[in-house]
Amino acid sequence: MSSEKPYSFFQSVERSFDKAAIFTEWDAGILEQIKQCNSVYQMRFPVKIGDKVETIEAYRVQHSHHKTPCKGGIRFSMAVNQDEVMALAALMTYKCAIVNVPFGGGKGGIKIDPKKYSAYELEKITRRYTAELIKKNFIGPGTDVPAPDYGTGAREMAWILDTYVAMHPGEIDAAGCVTGKPVSQGGVRGRTEATGLGVFYGLREVCNMKAVMDKLGLTTGVEGKRVCVQGLGNVGYHSALFFQQAGAKIVGLAEYEGAIWSNDGLDIDAVVKHRKSSGSINDFEGATNFEKSEDALEMDCDILIPAALENVINGENASRIKAKIIGEGANGPLTPDADEILALKGAIVVPDMYLNAGGVTVSYFEWLKNLSHVRYGRMEKRFTENMNHHILGQIEELTNKKVSTAEREFIMHGADEVDLVRSGLEETMITATKEIMDIWHANPNIPDMRTAAYVCAINKVATSYAELGIFP
Ligand code: GLU
Repeated sequence: MSSEKPYSFFQSVERSFDKAAIFTEWDAGILEQIKQCNSVYQMRFPVKIGDKVETIEAYRVQHSHHKTPCKGGIRFSMAVNQDEVMALAALMTYKCAIVNVPFGGGKGGIKIDPKKYSAYELEKITRRYTAELIKKNFIGPGTDVPAPDYGTGAREMAWILDTYVAMHPGEIDAAGCVTGKPVSQGGVRGRTEATGLGVFYGLREVCNMKAVMDKLGLTTGVEGKRVCVQGLGNVGYHSALFFQQAGAKIVGLAEYEGAIWSNDGLDIDAVVKHRKSSGSINDFEGATNFEKSEDALEMDCDILIPAALENVINGENASRIKAKIIGEGANGPLTPDADEILALKGAIVVPDMYLNAGGVTVSYFEWLKNLSHVRYGRMEKRFTENMNHHILGQIEELTNKKVSTAEREFIMHGADEVDLVRSGLEETMITATKEIMDIWHANPNIPDMRTAAYVCAINKVATSYAELGIFP
């Protein structure tokens, strides 16, 4: 189908929003207020690269102020433009609402190809961008809190923090001005893998729903499922890793330079090692190369996880997708036309704004850690271990039996920071899945899971506006 109208990314988000809004009872004024971006900051600034001055184009969008701070990543990519950042900021509002993270949506972007710059040059660009945000009050623990996104990571977040702190001496909560930081700089353990782990938890919950799997003609559970992942960045890599560890088979992996498949399953770490040493994902031992990277999206598998960029499954290729479950690891990988085609085919699309919310959920935990100035588990770990030791001793004495060393270690263990973060994330994803599925099943006219997720988000944001007293 090539009749797809040239919707911009933001228009696609608006289209999905409108599709869901009819299943709510909010008046048009509230819906319009929710839909629009509240503040859009477009900037140009000079940075000296070598002996030349480059004018850098960058953005920060605050989609919604119904809760503050605003929250959302910063991406470095040549595809960055105002429309894209607006769309991504809007998705952040809905994402935060769905997983009950008390932030408004935000997003930032710098239009550069990070591979073309040295670390020193990237640092200069990042610090200057941060200074521009500070000038307009577009960053701060209570106003707007960036995080990593496509093309950025903990290193960039540390530069942002350092620039912010230098310009806000003595601000006691300054560490909360950005999340996704290295642990040594106030980051939280478990943030790096959070989005991929959230993708896994979310899809696992869907796979555990017998009625949903029966409808798709699949067995219940994750074990044995054949999974294909597009994009081996942070999200794609960790999603694949957690699926592999849970007994699924990674049958396809795709990157921009190529893609490979194997019915016997690909070992994710071995593929990453091979790609690092050879410079390409192709020609991995025991695997077959796809002719083109995009072909991987159309491979025969149970779960397809597009975890790279937006619009990769669209009106043109959606009818050729064979996967029964499509899990949106990336933001906006499917266009609205693709949604419709896949719904007609009977596939289930597990939508981005819920499925990849693990990143912002753990960012929320990091922000709370920064505001409380104490590591998770510090107060209770030893207390729990002492208590468990005592209880176990009593049980052994009363039963006259000894537990094995491995069991003893397991029972005794008091939660570390990473245990608590992962458990908070798992709880968040389970609750969100249930909320969305309940909305979907309660109204047989809701066509797909994305629409149900939007209904969930709209109701929460609208309630928040209504309770603020802004609307009668
Ligand atoms: N960039 C991630 C996202 O799109 C994380 C945002 C955050 O942690 O604030 O959800």
